[in-house]
Amino acid sequence: MYNLLSPSSPWRAKAIGRLAYGCFYTTPSTPNHLLTFTPTRFFSHLLHRRRRTVSLLRPTTLSSCPSFLTGNSHFCGMAVIILHYLLVVLWLLSGRGIRDSKAMVEGLQSYGVISSEKVAEVMGTIDRALFVPDGTPAYDDSPMSIGYNATISAPHMHAMCLQLLEKNLQPDMHALDVGSGTGYLTACFALMVGPKGRAVGVEHIPELVSSSIENIQKSAVAPLLKEGSLSVHVGDGRLGWPEFAPYDAIHVGAAAPEIPQPLIDQLKPGGRMVIPVGNIYQDLKVVDKNMDGSVSIRTETAVRYVPLTNRDAQLRGY
Ligand code: SAH
Repeated sequence: MYNLLSPSSPWRAKAIGRLAYGCFYTTPSTPNHLLTFTPTRFFSHLLHRRRRTVSLLRPTTLSSCPSFLTGNSHFCGMAVIILHYLLVVLWLLSGRGIRDSKAMVEGLQSYGVISSEKVAEVMGTIDRALFVPDGTPAYDDSPMSIGYNATISAPHMHAMCLQLLEKNLQPDMHALDVGSGTGYLTACFALMVGPKGRAVGVEHIPELVSSSIENIQKSAVAPLLKEGSLSVHVGDGRLGWPEFAPYDAIHVGAAAPEIPQPLIDQLKPGGRMVIPVGNIYQDLKVVDKNMDGSVSIRTETAVRYVPLTNRDAQLRGY
């Protein structure tokens, strides 16, 4: 069961027509408070997110205003309360309530999705609005179409993957982002590993590689792209990117029928890969390479991603 009105709810994204075919998580480990809907919780969430608006329209202040039509202050107060909730619900449904990365991060923190200070800082610094198509609600917690039958993952998925990989995204480490799409997560990786590290994106749609480079050039990690510690390449991500291997962290942003061997080979001992595996039913797998070269694999949660496939199949619509 989902909280149907949660920003993380795929239902909500569907209802407002933005879930093309994307990445959202259907997690058994979703915090309990995300899984239930109660009007009280819903409104307290609204109050939390819209603190500034609420204080401006606080019913106690406004209910004391006399109605110039009826002279009945009680009537006026009730009408304002109803109007207020109507406006807030419309605002929420429009998906345009969250105004910047910091507010997006605060929302994810309040749901318990982001617990890491570092991840909060990074997602607050890399502005998602620079990476989504113009006119889309950048900070809404849902996947969005980026063309070519691909999507940018929802912020909660980016947050989850960054947290799973955090220990392997320390300064000077090497990170590979397979299916880098918009370049958002590659940019986050670059910020974490820093100028002496290496963040590499691989994407098989050349147009997406070009636009991701343009996005990155507008972002806080533009200098890292210029200096060369951040790079994005056209290629089949199932083969990894041997040039900068081995990697401490590998993220795969599309679902593979099975874990590609070249990616396991390019993982450093002590390294970690996060990869969705499956076809219709997919699990986010966490693959840890042990110091003796063996791997341990566990399932983090159930997810839905676009397939890791060949370019023609993707452009045909799979
Ligand atoms: N993580 C990115 C994009 C996720 S969508 C973001 O959030 O912006 C998955 C991406 O994987 C798409 O851009 C798709 O084109 C790419 N992809 C799928 N199969 C691929 C392959 N074999 N090699 C490289 N990229 C691939």
